Amino acid sequence: MFKKILIANRGEIALRVVRAAREMGIATVAVHSTADADAMHVRMADESVCIGPPPGTQSYLSVPAIISACEITGAEAIHPGYGFLSENANFVQIVEDHGISFIGPSAEHIRIMGDKITAKDTMKALGVPCVPGSDGGVPDVAAARALCDEIGYPVIVKATAGGGGRGMKVAKSAAEIERAFQTARAEAKAAFGNDEVYIEKYLTTPRHIEIQIFGDGQGGAVHLGERDCSLQRRHQKVFEEAPGPVITSEERAAIGRTCAEAVARIGYSGAGTIEFLYENGSFYFIEMNTRLQVEHPVTEAIFGVDLVREQIRVAAGLPMSFQQEDLAINGHAIEVRINAEKLPNFAPSPGRITQYHAPGGLGVRMDSALYDGYRIPPYYDSLIGKLIVHGRDRPEALARLARALSELIVDGVDTTIPLFHALLAEPDIQAGRYNIHWLERWLEDNLQPQ
Ligand code: ADP
Repeated sequence: MFKKILIANRGEIALRVVRAAREMGIATVAVHSTADADAMHVRMADESVCIGPPPGTQSYLSVPAIISACEITGAEAIHPGYGFLSENANFVQIVEDHGISFIGPSAEHIRIMGDKITAKDTMKALGVPCVPGSDGGVPDVAAARALCDEIGYPVIVKATAGGGGRGMKVAKSAAEIERAFQTARAEAKAAFGNDEVYIEKYLTTPRHIEIQIFGDGQGGAVHLGERDCSLQRRHQKVFEEAPGPVITSEERAAIGRTCAEAVARIGYSGAGTIEFLYENGSFYFIEMNTRLQVEHPVTEAIFGVDLVREQIRVAAGLPMSFQQEDLAINGHAIEVRINAEKLPNFAPSPGRITQYHAPGGLGVRMDSALYDGYRIPPYYDSLIGKLIVHGRDRPEALARLARALSELIVDGVDTTIPLFHALLAEPDIQAGRYNIHWLERWLEDNLQPQ
């Protein structure tokens, strides 16, 4: 096992990795920008190294700075968290070339899944169901038109190199395809420096259901059920739950097995998430994330496992500590993402936390790097905490979430906490009756932007 690992991240996820490592008796090295010198992940780690000025490109994304920090401190492995360098295949290659272990999948698997067309082709070949659409990139408007006449409208034009919901355009009819195609292409070029786009049938009322998988890198893999992450704003998840309110145990077993077998066949190593749209009882693959997800704690809650611990074990060459038959679902878990944002526009709200009180009690987990007096810097993501609740069933989890939210105090900045109080009062949320468009419509009706 490793004696010391470096965490190439910040905020709650850096703290999350420190916690797992400490329980395993592994020393941790935090890296930080000058803006994060007082951050909680720096205080909690055993050692820390300042790697640059505030902008992410000069610190948390600086490969030379991170490799140097490893060499100076003697860290044997790097945990990338999520975001930043976590899905950067070139980074992984450089890490390995320096004789450092990467706590995550191989550079090759990251590269395959990072290109959406290659990912889709690979998954299709492995027997994973995909959204009907183009075979690969679509070269021009004429080809787009011909394909859409065949698969039928509405369609969605998506950037091959896409991410974060950018470079996607919907065409409802033949009259809209030319514009959708050209706009998606221009946006893809501007955002990702690659104007290749592909086309899929646009599903009108799907849910976002993702399957957590875990591979041992030796041809073995398991699945840990699904998470329903349909409640999204601008394609960003805000509320996630496991198990999914509408997924049956038969559906879970079938899609879970398909996913586990697919990743086992490619020898995948570590945690991964296969994302699907789910409509009328069918699953359609959209993408695979080759890293730990923000919402992994809901899966940990219902299966009683520590996914970060498993990631570290597998990266160190040890077997996973569970097999498929050891994994049984216990109860229901919900996560809400607390962002420092001002409603109704969700404008970033950095600043000083004058008071912070985390909720507690049975079945409550607060993953956050906040503390009294902490100053949230304006340079990074606005996620400041994740509140996760676990109950015997969904009604208990919902009641516990309302109770925990009522205890949570974050003073000094605006947050998304009021949004969750309001959502919990909605009959549709109580009944689990929502799809990927529900939240956008609710926000339009209930929170008028100013
Ligand atoms: P990104 O990598 O940018 O997040 P995804 O391919 O994961 O892009 O899609 C993000 C979101 O866009 C999905 O969760 C869903 O809300 C919507 N979406 C993507 N593809 C389709 C589709 N074929 N039909 C309907 N909605 C889609």
